[in-house]
Amino acid sequence: MSKSQYQAPKGTRDIMAPETNRVSALLRLFEETLNSGGYNQIISPIFEDIGVFQRLGHSSEIVTKEMFDLFDKDPKNPQHLVLRPELTASICRAFAQHRPVTPWKVWYEGPQFRYEKPQAGRYRQFLQVGAELLGSPDPHADVEIISMASRFFQKTGLANTKLLLNSLGDTETRGNYNDALTNYLNLNQVNLSEQSQETMLKNPLRVLDSKREKDQEIIQNAPFITDFLNDDSNKHFQIVQEGLSLLGIDYDLAPRLVRGLDYYTKTTFEFVAPNLDTAQNAVGGGGRYDGLVEALGGPPTEGIGFAIGIDRTLLACEAENVSQSVDNIEIFIVDTTGGGEALVLSDELRQIGLSVDRSFDQRSMKAQMKAADRSGAQLAIIIGTDELNENQVTLRDLRGDGIQTVLDRQSLAKILPEMLQETTK
Ligand code: AMP
Repeated sequence: MSKSQYQAPKGTRDIMAPETNRVSALLRLFEETLNSGGYNQIISPIFEDIGVFQRLGHSSEIVTKEMFDLFDKDPKNPQHLVLRPELTASICRAFAQHRPVTPWKVWYEGPQFRYEKPQAGRYRQFLQVGAELLGSPDPHADVEIISMASRFFQKTGLANTKLLLNSLGDTETRGNYNDALTNYLNLNQVNLSEQSQETMLKNPLRVLDSKREKDQEIIQNAPFITDFLNDDSNKHFQIVQEGLSLLGIDYDLAPRLVRGLDYYTKTTFEFVAPNLDTAQNAVGGGGRYDGLVEALGGPPTEGIGFAIGIDRTLLACEAENVSQSVDNIEIFIVDTTGGGEALVLSDELRQIGLSVDRSFDQRSMKAQMKAADRSGAQLAIIIGTDELNENQVTLRDLRGDGIQTVLDRQSLAKILPEMLQETTK
């Protein structure tokens, strides 16, 4: 096959059936989980003013290197926009703009855009689902948010996903820790990678995020942030851990977990799928960000949330051999009388809630039966000249041993739903 003139842009991909069916199944599970917790969906713009994301902090690569820029065409208002690289900042912007009643509990799904070096599990356009809870400092809010993500992974059937938990403390804690870490990194500066030496000057904490081999030994021996938690931060962290234990949610303490964005305070967490490559094994993560709404011009408002990467969750499902239940077509109509019967009957059956497909182009019986098999339908309804004259149809079980039954056409709407239940038993 010759290559077509245009390809999907670098770092993007066309997701098609059957993968789209697995994506929809995951989205449905997510929606169910979050709705059960009293979270409502929010649909916010795919592009925002660049300033919204700049509030996330200038030492974050997402902000400094990875945003896709857009410019408003209006010469009177040449606004600098970007495709959103994540959604927490957009949601805090929406909160500051609309001032909803707190606690404000929302979930979202949609594409995010980051100008990254594409590789397996790392794309320039990827799909995330997530949730945010704004307006409560209660550590049980942290537990609820983590439980939502954890229950979602549980429902997908993934058995090996691990929850890593840490606390970055409050501003006082971070200040004290920053001093200790800076001293430590200064002493070891010559042994750090060039990039980490640069990061160190902007935000020493972010050095702990480095996956570069050269930095690993220094990171291993760095002081633990959890040794610097003040009483308030420590108490918060203890209640979060107790809450998770009460819900039977396992976690590993990960004192080096600082996560990508600068605005996190107190609880941070990540879900990793050990079956994936280390560089791309995070399937989700989140944390508390008590200062972000205020930074975006809203009232002082606490917040906690998470984001889960759907593309990576699918990769983790593949690696663990977990399959999502995929909705196949239930009925395939094979009409050798010209197609008019297939047209009317498919519409009739779709209206009573069945999923029905058919062939076009007046193809041969053999070709239509082949298409019926390929469709994954449970039953084929066959209409030939004899059936048409007698006002009957022949029903063929495509999953079992191919048993055929002749039925009155009028009785179909009544009998089919029952029969389909029988064949799925
Ligand atoms: P983050 O917003 O960076 O905390 O990412 C949350 C989750 O989104 C990660 O755990 C990944 O599963 C997923 N993710 C982040 N960046 C990418 C990317 N470039 N390609 C695919 N998935 C991503």
